Amino acid sequence: MTKFTDLKLDPKVLTAIVEAGYETPTPIQAGAIPPALEGKDVLGIAQTGTGKTASFTLPMITLLSKGRARARMPRSLVLCPTRELAAQVAENFDIYAKHTKLTKALLIGGVSFSEQDKLIDRGVDVLIATPGRLLDHFERGKLLLTGVQIMVVDEADRMLDMGFIPDIERIFQLTPFTRQTLFFSATMAPEIERITNTFLHGPARIEVARQATTSETITQKLVQIAPPRRDQAAKAKRELLRALIAAEGETCTNAIIFCNRKTDVDIVAKSLKTHGFNAAPIHGDLEQRQRMQTLDSFREGGLQLLIASDVAARGLDIPAVSHVFNYDLPSHAEDYVHRIGRTGRAGRLGTAISIATPADEKYLSQIQALVKMEIPRAELPEGFELSEAAHREPKTYDEDEGRRGRSRGGRDRDRGERGDRGERGEGRTRTRGGRERNREAAEALPEAIETTEAVAVEAPAAPRAEQREPREPRSEAPRRDREERRDDRRDRDERRERGGRGRDRDHGPAVVGMGDHVPDFILRSFRTTRPAAASDAASEAETEADAIETPEVVEESSES
Ligand code: AMP
Repeated sequence: MTKFTDLKLDPKVLTAIVEAGYETPTPIQAGAIPPALEGKDVLGIAQTGTGKTASFTLPMITLLSKGRARARMPRSLVLCPTRELAAQVAENFDIYAKHTKLTKALLIGGVSFSEQDKLIDRGVDVLIATPGRLLDHFERGKLLLTGVQIMVVDEADRMLDMGFIPDIERIFQLTPFTRQTLFFSATMAPEIERITNTFLHGPARIEVARQATTSETITQKLVQIAPPRRDQAAKAKRELLRALIAAEGETCTNAIIFCNRKTDVDIVAKSLKTHGFNAAPIHGDLEQRQRMQTLDSFREGGLQLLIASDVAARGLDIPAVSHVFNYDLPSHAEDYVHRIGRTGRAGRLGTAISIATPADEKYLSQIQALVKMEIPRAELPEGFELSEAAHREPKTYDEDEGRRGRSRGGRDRDRGERGDRGERGEGRTRTRGGRERNREAAEALPEAIETTEAVAVEAPAAPRAEQREPREPRSEAPRRDREERRDDRRDRDERRERGGRGRDRDHGPAVVGMGDHVPDFILRSFRTTRPAAASDAASEAETEADAIETPEVVEESSES
């Protein structure tokens, strides 16, 4: 078996590895580090959790230990799709480079430019960045990429999902042809293959087995509940969730609770807090500082329950998580594997408890087909009974949320969940559900205006024609995380405000190719004409696309 000492790493790096407690290199490290140290390009097909960050950070530190950084000319560049992942790479770099004099800068949105400029001006060895913010600095003339000797692209498949590939291509072209490229992706979609064929030169290809099954160290349970009323399904699930957490008692030192929708992330977090749990949400709508604080607090043990969307939690490395709860069963089976893989890491034991309602039947069978096992069924917690309120029609004031509940806490959201399901092919019911949802959301205005469902009725008819295009099945279409794309769009908007790419603010950022770009006119908010547009749109809401697609998209634009 390969040992770290066999890998010709800088002795200072080896000391840091020993201090980090690593004994042997992981397969991706054993495979990628030797060719990287020889100066070869590397194509690593591996996902988070395989030790891939160290597989590029360790050789980078070793290679950069000779030579000095020059002002505004970083010697290496690591591109990450999200701010959190970039911050995580920066933390890894700090650990492995702590005995060296190498310097780094982290360029991510939500952090002041002037601080970042100062660091770059001084000269850095390693620049860790998200593509949007990096191009921002470049366009401001604050950064030269001609000194980049090593360029890393991390999580390329997520870059593709988020529409960053044109930015990545541009960044490749701004760096010297002679650079060394270390390129990582969990999957090799045709577009990723194309990029690697174009920009990598004779790469060493290291593929690490995909996490196809769920870890043996995770105890899985499925708790089924049949909510007495459809419009109280969410309430019933929240009550059950509280009971499940309580039943785990002290064994539940900390947990990530997954919801399928951002609105539910907030509601579940608020509800848990109201009931005395130490809980906080994380999703793409929150301020970057808040996201970081929440994550830090969770990592350090100050926060017990992290309520998350898939996008916010994917790729994050939080080693000691005792429990994962699926408040919703994920609609994409592989998300189940990702989610429960947040616990039971590094040989620790973990528990994953999923809540399922009869409406989840289809998802459940897809998940079980993927993990090739039946998820063991568990009883409802002892003594658990739904409250009387969960049997009644929702009130206008929901004591769970401490706010008007009808639109947000009750019906609309339940309909929203149905809508999500309908999106993936349940025929007529979707259309009807969507229409109903729009009509009732319109009635609920203006109180409900904050909800995604209500916002749906504000959308104009024009862009919908495009949204009625048949959707590609998931397996063939790159998945795009709107939440994170919006984050990047926020960065671009900041750039545009400063005159970055010189585009008219009202017409959105330059669209480079058609790739994964959604034309901005589709994303524009029409809030000002709210009441009239609401009723118009409600009556026009004839298709599922209207009802299902519009809310999230409009929600994105409301950020800008
Ligand atoms: P990554 O895939 O880079 O997100 O790494 C996943 C986790 O594995 C991180 O917590 C690393 O600290 C840890 N790790 C990386 N390399 C090793 C190793 N050789 N031995 C043990 N743990 C490691």
